[in-house]
Amino acid sequence: MTARQHTEERNTTRKYIFVVGGVMSSVGKGIATASIGKILQARGYKVSLVKCDMYVNIDAGTIRPTEHGEVFVGEDGIEADQDLGNYERFTDQTSTALHYLTTGQVYAEVIKRERNLEYGGEDVEVVPDIPNEIIRRIKLAGETDQSDFVVIEIGGTVGEYQNVLFLEAGRMMKARHKNDVLFVLVSYLPIPGKVGEMKTKPTQYAARTLNATGIQADFILCRSEHMIDEKRREKLALFCNIEPEDAIAAPDVDSIYDVPVNFARDGLDLRILQKFGLEPKADNLGQWSALAEKIKTLTDTVSIGVVGKYFNTGDFTLADSYISVLESIKHAAWEAGVKPKISWLDAEAYEKDPSKLSELSGYDGIIVPGGFGSRGVEGKILAVEYVRKNNIPYLGLCYGLQMAVIEYARNVCGLADANTTEVNKDTPHPVIDVMVDQKANIAEKKMGGTMRLGAYPCELKDGTISREAYGKKNISERHRHRYEVNNEYRAQLEEAGLVIAGRNPDRDLVEIIELPQSKHPFFVGVQFHPEFLSRPLAPHPLFMAFIKAATKTK
Ligand code: GLN
Repeated sequence: MTARQHTEERNTTRKYIFVVGGVMSSVGKGIATASIGKILQARGYKVSLVKCDMYVNIDAGTIRPTEHGEVFVGEDGIEADQDLGNYERFTDQTSTALHYLTTGQVYAEVIKRERNLEYGGEDVEVVPDIPNEIIRRIKLAGETDQSDFVVIEIGGTVGEYQNVLFLEAGRMMKARHKNDVLFVLVSYLPIPGKVGEMKTKPTQYAARTLNATGIQADFILCRSEHMIDEKRREKLALFCNIEPEDAIAAPDVDSIYDVPVNFARDGLDLRILQKFGLEPKADNLGQWSALAEKIKTLTDTVSIGVVGKYFNTGDFTLADSYISVLESIKHAAWEAGVKPKISWLDAEAYEKDPSKLSELSGYDGIIVPGGFGSRGVEGKILAVEYVRKNNIPYLGLCYGLQMAVIEYARNVCGLADANTTEVNKDTPHPVIDVMVDQKANIAEKKMGGTMRLGAYPCELKDGTISREAYGKKNISERHRHRYEVNNEYRAQLEEAGLVIAGRNPDRDLVEIIELPQSKHPFFVGVQFHPEFLSRPLAPHPLFMAFIKAATKTK
């Protein structure tokens, strides 16, 4: 069978829901997709969530966070779009390379097959071979997960050029499996200030643009400042060929965790099942709804400062660059019964004016998250010095661990100009150095997908903060780095009081550093990214311990 026949002939017992955006970007397609996954799961069905990104990049690992938001790392080391983080947080399922497609991956695979003569001598064409490969990937996710539903988020907005082949894949699937494919249009209904009335026209145009690709929306999720009313539902129904009850209200919310609850309240879960001829098998949204309610009642606050640098294009992007960190803080704070107040602190400002460091005293805890390159590094090191000396709870994530080690080396061990070789190749004290196996990658400019990525084991030392927080000796966490603590300086750091609380047992790499609680209320740095494992109903143990320490010192 040729590659083309292979995709065309496969049958399906699975149901597919495509989520596409209309009118404008940033209306929450990712949250909508995650929420649809959640409400179907709550009805007793197994779901796979797949993100299709339009970019020619093979993965998100080479895209700047201010451009594209956080790079989310999967268990298997996939460097994906931040939406996969929402998928994991909402469905508590692990994402892998199966769940993330880009234009680059799709073309790379088709070209590879062509070189392998897998097309049996036919012309390899943009249509149908590119959509066929997209379909193959979508089906593969469902087959591998053995899920009942595959919910596929198509990046971008209908009407733009870049996502056309993903839409074509959806159209072709519908043509081949009429009763097994649905389309959800996530649209925006503006309420212009001067007019004061919700307008449906842009959504009508979006639905029609979708029609022009051969796709009819089955549902329209009506994102707006407010709930859509009956009159406008009727209007959308008439002009967009849907039933009034399939125009689902999706008003702005204070917390994204309200969205599945709102969708279920509008009956989206049951309507989807009904259209596929399926019955609900469970009703399991209770715990989730309870959390969404609890969030609204919290009054005591904990204020956390995040010292970073990826925020030069406005607040929105800033929050997106560190979205998993942000959500992890929230999960832990809610569990601790407090409302998190999170502030973004610009590391570079401390370099320019160190007197600004005193503002750190106004926070109950400080986080230095992951980062790359030299910009803002000295400011982060100054911030770590300040919180260490002033007993402010500190959690360092990846680069945040490396900054803490540099600070300790310089100011406690007396190693002047200690640094990471990422910033200063000629430092006299490379306390953070490139990993041995990374040297060749850097020399040969093999930078995409070559960091130490994904889940690796870590062994915790008894009697440490981390050991107590996790409640077990052996853990596994996700990584994304090229540099590590230089083992040649380990003895010196330990003699000066730094505790190596976790190490990778296979390669003896430093994974966690701490200060003993006799010296500091909470000072922990981790080489990995715990933020990828935190869930709203299961906060991460380290964030939990950090927030507890922060509420205590308050
Ligand atoms: N830049 C550092 C490294 O590559 C830290 C990476 C990170 O914070 N994710 O090791």
